Amino acid sequence: MYNTGDFARLRERVVESLEREGYLKNKLVKKALLSVPRELFVPEKYREYAYVDSPLPIGYGQTISAIHMVAIMTEALDPLPGMRVLEIGTGSGYQAAVLAEIVAKEDPSLKGHVYTVERIPELAEFARRNIERAGYRNYITVVVGDGSKGLPEYAPYDRIIVTAAAPSVPKPLIDQLKPGGKLVIPVGDLYIQRLLILEKKHDGELSFKWGIDCVFVPLIGEYGWKES
Ligand code: SAM
Repeated sequence: MYNTGDFARLRERVVESLEREGYLKNKLVKKALLSVPRELFVPEKYREYAYVDSPLPIGYGQTISAIHMVAIMTEALDPLPGMRVLEIGTGSGYQAAVLAEIVAKEDPSLKGHVYTVERIPELAEFARRNIERAGYRNYITVVVGDGSKGLPEYAPYDRIIVTAAAPSVPKPLIDQLKPGGKLVIPVGDLYIQRLLILEKKHDGELSFKWGIDCVFVPLIGEYGWKES
């Protein structure tokens, strides 16, 4: 059985190796990955694998993403203290906690916040429990719903991250992004996608940049894939 100290050492080791492999350059992202106890976001039976850098099952056919994918997406998103961030696809709540560590916990006086939407109510509940145990309750709001429509009630957002595979960029997400904001989303078919990094310039113009290939579970909803 691992104890808290063992997990901290495993966490340091995986962060060092991500840095060595060139996945991790941003100091805030590194600090967040070193701070968030990933072992509290995986189901009990997989706890000993919490720092193996691969996706793990979280039930309902869904997964918590591999650690390098969280690092790559968070770096591409470039969150800063004080920002309002929207995540679509809460899953375990781990990515939301990494974001909250940067935008809210780093300097709570700046009042940054993470809003995260999950379509499966049981997973939203799992994430809420994990977030509470890990000490991020005040910084993250978990909402059950179809995140392909965004979350208009708290819009606009400085940053939007989608952690499920979309056939194209949902228009409501672009509408809910602030001028100067960034959106990171895996776009492609059901088998393979590529990360898309979209920026809304201050004059409202959009610019697009492609990142690495990736494989995510589908974004199911009005502006995503239809449920089969
Ligand atoms: N970010 C998560 C984490 O840190 O554990 C992993 C996300 S998992 C790869 C993708 C999640 O997106 C699943 O939990 C799935 O139920 C959810 N999802 C799929 N379509 C969705 C939608 N339209 N709105 C909200 N969540 C959705």
